[in-house]
Amino acid sequence: MSASWVSLSSKLLCSPQNTITCSAAAITMSSSFCPSLPTNFKSTPFFSFPRIQSFSSLISASATKDEIPARLGFLGLGIMGSPMAQNLIKSGCDVTVWNRTKSKCDPLIALGAKYMSSPEEVAASCDITFAMLADPESAVDVACGKNGAANGMSAGKGYVDVSTVDVTTSKLICGNIKSTGALFLEAPVSGSKKPAEDGQLIFLTAGDKLLYDTVSPFLDIMGKSRFYLGDIGNGAAMKLVVNMIMGSMMASFSEGLLLSEKVGLDPSVLVEVVSQGAISAPMFSMKGPSMVQSKYPTAFPLKHQQKDLRLALGLAESVSQPTPIAAATNELYKVAKSHGLSDHDFSAVIEALKAKLQTQT
Ligand code: NAP
Repeated sequence: MSASWVSLSSKLLCSPQNTITCSAAAITMSSSFCPSLPTNFKSTPFFSFPRIQSFSSLISASATKDEIPARLGFLGLGIMGSPMAQNLIKSGCDVTVWNRTKSKCDPLIALGAKYMSSPEEVAASCDITFAMLADPESAVDVACGKNGAANGMSAGKGYVDVSTVDVTTSKLICGNIKSTGALFLEAPVSGSKKPAEDGQLIFLTAGDKLLYDTVSPFLDIMGKSRFYLGDIGNGAAMKLVVNMIMGSMMASFSEGLLLSEKVGLDPSVLVEVVSQGAISAPMFSMKGPSMVQSKYPTAFPLKHQQKDLRLALGLAESVSQPTPIAAATNELYKVAKSHGLSDHDFSAVIEALKAKLQTQT
């Protein structure tokens, strides 16, 4: 099966109307490259990995001779970036990595990644560069700052920012990247550390549709589904709405756990009861048992949840929508941060409530 077939087939299948179908189809295509393995993030010989054509030849959608292997860059190797880059490498991709703290590149280099010492060099040496940074400030710095990726971008390249940032930041980065002639896609992810490890993320993309079509096989290695949402900003907004809901759910769950204990119930039984009813959520079942034991192994750092609530409140403000629950929730996460819980999992927000209870007694 020719690699361009993957590219072009997914392009044909990927109309905005059938994006999910497309994802499933692409996974099936991916599987056919590696029949011995059951999922979409598997070890694939390099020569059989999906190849990309230059963007201009993709537009003409005919040439096969000038296919080149996709050289992928990955900037930002934190909790999410590391497993995402790992899955690309394990799938046979040619990946070049960079991280502010260089030591985090070492495990990836051991798996076969190349290393460059700046985002600019990565972007200059790759066809498509992914970025997974902490917040708006770091995303802008890595993309547009001194030695930033934009300096290495040019026509025929693509930049895919998978960090969670606000709409204004995404548009700023988009403008800088596109001024070089390159294409830009925002693609924040839903899903945490484990889904990132398992290649089960959900991509919320917006921006250049051509780049979306081109990178879809790579998104399908790292994720289980993808949504193309149109204009730049829509992916960022969707992600912030999702995380606004999630932050409030976790705060409410924390209150419930503490109240159950206070009235003499076993919070572990509450977790079980919740898991069997209409309000069951994988998040409650996954985090509840460790929260009952006051353990918060970090999958999603609390500081990032608070950042997302802050950005979601800004989004709501931009359209004058009242969001009283999110506003109160944000205050609680700020209290948790003031207790030194920034780098704990966001479920540690329950500790801020415990502290409030203690000051009352
Ligand atoms: P993380 O573990 O804190 O990693 C953050 C990354 O950003 C690291 O590579 C860090 O580099 C880099 N960074 C921070 N400040 C920087 C700066 N000023 N300049 C250059 N690089 C900088 O965070 P994460 O959990 O992987 O999350 C990354 C993004 O994904 C965030 O936007 C987060 O909201 C979002 N997200 C996270 C999850 C999750 O469950 N964890 C889920 C969905 C989305 P160093 O290694 O040098 O610190």
